[in-house]
Formats: sequence, structure tokens, C-alpha cells
Amino acid sequence: MTARMTAFSGEGELPRVEGVTLADVAARFGTPCYVYSRAALTSAYQAYRDALAGRDALVCYAVKANSNLAILDVFARLGAGFDIVSGGELARVLAAGGDPGKVLFSGVGKSRAEMRQALEAGIFCFNVESAAELETLNAVALELGRQAPVSLRVNPDVDARTHPYIATGLKSSKFGVPFEAALALYRRAAELPGLAVRGIDCHIGSQLLDPAPAAAAAAKIVGLVDALTADGIDLHHIDLGGGLGIRYRDEAVPTVAEYLAPLLAVMRDRKEQLVFEPGRSLVGNAGLLLTRVELLKHGESKNFAVVDAAMNDLARPALYDAWHAIVNVSGKVSHGGTPAPSRSYEIVGPICESGDFLGHARELSLAPGDLLAVMSAGAYGMAMSSNYNTRPRAAEVMIDGDRMHPIRRRETITELFANESLLP
Ligand SMILES: *Cc1c(COP(=O)(O)O)cnc(C)c1O
Repeated sequence: MTARMTAFSGEGELPRVEGVTLADVAARFGTPCYVYSRAALTSAYQAYRDALAGRDALVCYAVKANSNLAILDVFARLGAGFDIVSGGELARVLAAGGDPGKVLFSGVGKSRAEMRQALEAGIFCFNVESAAELETLNAVALELGRQAPVSLRVNPDVDARTHPYIATGLKSSKFGVPFEAALALYRRAAELPGLAVRGIDCHIGSQLLDPAPAAAAAAKIVGLVDALTADGIDLHHIDLGGGLGIRYRDEAVPTVAEYLAPLLAVMRDRKEQLVFEPGRSLVGNAGLLLTRVELLKHGESKNFAVVDAAMNDLARPALYDAWHAIVNVSGKVSHGGTPAPSRSYEIVGPICESGDFLGHARELSLAPGDLLAVMSAGAYGMAMSSNYNTRPRAAEVMIDGDRMHPIRRRETITELFANESLLP
């Protein structure tokens, strides 16, 4: 049995997360249901703290990976900062007790209203992604009689060697400002009275398994920082983004310490504060999606297991052809003692799309009513879910030792059309 997920134990009769069996979670909250482990979230964050021990560093959790308030609460209590990409995410961070003074605002299309909201909250820094945004932010800050702390997100033009949809550091990407343009833009920013130049930022992609591209990006950034210093522009922090991958299947994934070591080597003896923006590596392997087998359909060329979770609950397989381990977590009781024959199954949801699958060709012994866990689903799972096919979004539960805390109740059908109206 696979146990790449932290705090998941598939051994023995009753698979569990921390001290709680998944059968108990399903009995109390139903399925589909996202299940998270507080211990796993804590140890993932702690790995960053340990790797950065003795350095002036800020770890800003990238909220978009999973924005549930309870998850933000866990990280806020651990002292984390937050990397946000919208006014909505800022509101979540504040509602969860996050410190606005540790909030970074990233993203290519911040609206004026979002800029105002963040300035009023007193965030740590805006990661500015274009010349136009620099001018707008300056104007908004002056209207409010404030100075906006800014970094430029610089595109180091390195190939992160990841899925093209999640590579963000190439010249052709919509993100950041070109490396060659950065010096002139910093000079412009330094002239604008509504801006206070604070740092520099880069983020080259997601699900990175090799630290070399990030270290190469860091080296380019450091060269730029030195050129800025020579120009009279001193920076307070260097933000090296997020992007560390997790093990979904059998990928060779460096530990946080192994991944950061070459970056920290580049940063040795530097006075600037170090900032990181990890998302997936803090939550991905701290969560799973629990789903029940509705029925089995044995066809001529394929066997299907139709489950009650679908692409609206977990879009990654349909969107990126992503692979998630799928484990039967019913325990040995499920088949009344006689195991069903093991077969190769297409694990599919009820949605009317051929792309609605959670896994292809999975060798599993299944019976209707069995409980399955779709593993490593803590990042970009619930956060990307939708109501497609008028499906209420799943419940979410946080396990803490032997306690289960409902952290989002399942939506009801009437909530799904509560904002709609009939014609007069
Ligand atoms: C998505 C994102 C992150 C987090 O990326 P992960 O791969 O989840 O670590 C960090 N910074 C920015 C700017 C992002 O867009």
C-alpha cells in the first residue's frame, strides 16, 4: 500500500488519518469529502522553518493552493505569512487571523479596488508584474495618502522543466517583467512618490523536482540585486517564490532542506531577508479526497468504477492529466470477508464529460459501496473545485489527533441557485 501522504496509515484493518479512521469520517460527514491532517500541515511548515533556521526568512503560504480558513488558521498560528493573488484571498487571511504585515500580493491583474484594500490592510509587499501596474499602484497609493511597498516580479527566463501549464519563468510567460527591463523599471519605481521599493521576487513554476533551475534563477536575481545596489537602490528582501513539488506517485522529490540548500548557497552572506512562497509542498500531501464507489460497470474493453466524486471536486486529472494514487480504504470488513477479484478499473465520476476521470487503469479489488481515498489531494483540489453539473461542493474535515473538525460543510442544492432569479 502507498503511504506517500504524511499522517496516512493504510496498514491494518482500518486505514486512518492520524487517529481517525476514514470509515468514521465518511459515516459522520458523507462523501465526497476532503480530509486534511493538522499534523501533516504542521510538519510541512516546520520543514521550511528548520531548513531556514538561523536566517532572517519569511515563509508565505501561497493561499491559492488551498484557501480554507482552518488551513490558513493552522499556518497563521505557526507564524507563517501568506502569498495572495486576490482581494478575496486577503479577506480570507484576515478572517483566519493572519498578520497583514506578512502578506505578499502577487498576480498579473490586481484591480484598483484590490490595491486599495491591501494598502488599507497594511500588507508586507506588492509583487508588481508590469510597468502599467507600477503606475496604477502609485496613483492608488497617492489617492490614499500612503506609500505602497513594492517588489518587482522578475522573469529570470529559466526553464523550470515542469508541465507547460504550470511553468511561469520563461520569457513567453504572461508573468513578471523581463529580466532585461527590470533595472529601468526599478529606477522608475524609485522615482514614484507613492511607492517604496522593498524587494525583488521571482517564481518560475510549480511541481519542481530539481532545485537547479531555481538556484540558477536565484543567481540571476542576486546579480540584478547587486546592480541595483550599485545604482543606489537597496532592497530589504529577496523572494524566491514557491514551486517545490510533492510525490504523487514515484517521483524522486527532494526534501525541503535538499531543495533549499543550493538556493541558500547562492544567498550565503547576503543581508537581505529571504522570502519563500510555497503552496503545494505545504498542503499537497496533507490532504486526500474520500469518495464512495456508486457502482461497477464491467464493459467489453474496460471496467469502470463510478464514484461519487468527479472532476468538479478534483480537476487536476482532467486538467493536467495528473496522476493521484487511489487506495481502497474500506478496510477488510468491506467485502464481508470475501475479497472481490482485482481488476483494472477506470475510476470515473458521474459528470457528463469523457474527461471526467480520477484515474485510469487502476488495479483494484472493488465492491459497490467501497470507500476510496484519492491521495495527495490537499493542493489545488478543493481550491479548484466547481459546481459543474449543479453538484454541491464537497465537505472538508480537519483531523487533529483523534478528533475530527468539520471545516466546511457540504453545500446544499438550494445554495447553488440562491443567487439566481426567474424572469419578471
Ligand atoms: C502558485 C504560486 C505559488 C505557489 O506555487 P506552488 O507550486 O504551489 O508552491 C507561489 N507564488 C506565486 C506567485 C504563485 O502564483
